[in-house]
Amino acid sequence: MNILLLGSGGREHALAWKLAQSPTCTKLFAAPGNPGIAEEAELVGLNASSHAAVVDFCEAHNVGLVVIGPEAPLVDGLADSLRDFDIPVFGPSKAAAQLEGSKGFTKDLCERAGIPTAGYVRTTSLDDAKAALDRFEPPYVLKADGLAAGKGVVIAENCSDAEAALADMFGGQFGEAGAEVVIEEFMTGEEASFFALTDGTAIIPFGTAQDHKRVGDGDVGPNTGGMGAYSPAPVLTEQLQARVMAEIIEPTVRTMREEGMPYSGVLYAGLMLTEAGPKLIEYNCRFGDPECQVLMTRLESDLAAIMLACANGSLQGTSGEFSSQTAMTVVMAARGYPDTPAKGGAISLGDVDASGAKVFHAGTAMRDGQLVANGGRVLNVTATGANATEAQAAAYAAVDAIDFPSGFCRRDIGWREVEREAQN
Ligand code: AMP
Repeated sequence: MNILLLGSGGREHALAWKLAQSPTCTKLFAAPGNPGIAEEAELVGLNASSHAAVVDFCEAHNVGLVVIGPEAPLVDGLADSLRDFDIPVFGPSKAAAQLEGSKGFTKDLCERAGIPTAGYVRTTSLDDAKAALDRFEPPYVLKADGLAAGKGVVIAENCSDAEAALADMFGGQFGEAGAEVVIEEFMTGEEASFFALTDGTAIIPFGTAQDHKRVGDGDVGPNTGGMGAYSPAPVLTEQLQARVMAEIIEPTVRTMREEGMPYSGVLYAGLMLTEAGPKLIEYNCRFGDPECQVLMTRLESDLAAIMLACANGSLQGTSGEFSSQTAMTVVMAARGYPDTPAKGGAISLGDVDASGAKVFHAGTAMRDGQLVANGGRVLNVTATGANATEAQAAAYAAVDAIDFPSGFCRRDIGWREVEREAQN
């Protein structure tokens, strides 16, 4: 089977690496890709926002599966355009991708389906939003309804900060995404990510992970797309995973199907492990980045076959097998990230892959034969070990073998789990 993978980040490099290993994959194309993906796939100049061009390419190259990496083309309905031409696609329809594309949609769905999540109010004007603050205690959780590249959530410590943030949101800070704002009850607990694959009816669990969103050691500083991750997340015990499936994932998939918006692809639940049990923070309609990198490193099953089963409704009876090792990814970013990342810094990877680590490329480019930084998050250095402590040591040994003078990384990825392991 020929496969087309869409995207250009570290997530897509990890998917390309795994798809290229799949016995079911004959030929892998990727668009637009990056220098790392180019080692696994033939890069093609396709723009995912031109649905007709993607369809034409698939028909001309006998593509039997399209894998859509990022959320934007899903929310934009690319999967629907492909299905209209009977081209199998891994990823939800536009209607189903609202689970990520509209926070208000997801909160209403949770209410209808009885899914545990924070209490909330949807507001469409600054006055309504300010009035609604009275119904919550500080800190106030304010969310732009639409896609905002992971930056649309503000946690305000007091009422005046909340009112200022609401004024920014309704003032156009997030463009159309902020035309509606969801105000939520603040939840406390540890965060963890749970992944499931579904074809709309059958559901299989597909691993757990934890990530680090803040830019600085000790989880301080501004939020980023993610500075590192590890999998599995032992804090999500077997028992908790069973609860997440029964109380959150299954009712979501069932309700979406019953309401005529069957969800297929990966359902990525961001969870808060509260004293009352796991509660949904948000859904994503694609793999996390860098969570995907650690999941793919542990995955032992044929990824292309499982994704095709999601696409054509034959997931029942399959399962995702993962190694019992811990995988850890340390993100190396360009200095200045997340505000003003320096572009163009030279990178020398040396023979880091020979150490057993794997470097997934995110924002890299080749300039005159030299690998350079070309984005905020640049490299995803990934290693495995018997536990988080060993995986962390291996990942940082690989980081230290890379020459990237204009880059930086956090030095404490996995600290929660490493601390727990030290106590046991
Ligand atoms: P989201 O984009 O919805 O995942 O939110 C980004 C981050 O904001 C989450 O990873 C949490 O750290 C935090 N957050 C979101 N919603 C809540 C909530 N209701 N209570 C506490 N923290 C939250």
